[in-house]
Amino acid sequence: MAERPYIVGNWKMNGTRAMLSEARAIDRAAQRYMKVEVAVAPPYTLIHAVHKEAEQIGVGAQDCHPGVEGAHTGDINASMIADAGAKFVILGHSERRQGHGESNELINAKIESALEAGLRVILCCGETLETRDAGDAESFVLNQIKAALPLFGEPAERLTIAYEPIWAIGTGRTATSEDIEAMHRSIRELLNETYGEEASAAVRILYGGSVKPDNAPEILATPEVGGALVGGASLSAETFLGIVVGASESEEA
Ligand code: PEP
Repeated sequence: MAERPYIVGNWKMNGTRAMLSEARAIDRAAQRYMKVEVAVAPPYTLIHAVHKEAEQIGVGAQDCHPGVEGAHTGDINASMIADAGAKFVILGHSERRQGHGESNELINAKIESALEAGLRVILCCGETLETRDAGDAESFVLNQIKAALPLFGEPAERLTIAYEPIWAIGTGRTATSEDIEAMHRSIRELLNETYGEEASAAVRILYGGSVKPDNAPEILATPEVGGALVGGASLSAETFLGIVVGASESEEA
């Protein structure tokens, strides 16, 4: 991979100010693993506080509204999260697609607005178990990406893809290395076709789904895996840093 491995913690709807000590511990330890790019996406309420703690790690959000401003009670747009200190936003997570009915078109609009606000984007994709068992995983995931991708060249520099099979999120199950490699290679081909090989090379493809310190070394050593999007295991500095160490070692191997 051209870039450093990227390990991103998605705190989901977890964390009050008491979690700031975990963020601080992650940040201080990340300074010892400079071969790895480390980031966390806390809930909106903690973005500014984590940003103020962070000297080394990146801070991002888990979603944003595609609009600029106006009458959208309860929503937060891309420039607001950037103003709070976010440098990236996770978009298209399966919990947003399923729990909030987000379509590929809406996700595309969110991506455009996030790029416009100067943010980097982590676009999530992934299939259900039924789709995989039907043999349709690859076409399903590629369609999700095609429909959501920004269609102009320059944003490739600020784009990351996270392949997260839905059946592996929070379940303790992970995809096999062979399945991960095959899907990541297909995604890479799509990116090559969309942006050209040179621009595509800057886009890291992360794997997400029950990544833990014990399975991280194998997953991160899989060809075309540029890092991990980590849910549950990112809530404690100790387990999250175990994954960062695995990424650092896979860089040295
Ligand atoms: C996620 O929600 O992005 C995720 C990968 O969660 P977990 O690591 O808990 O499976």
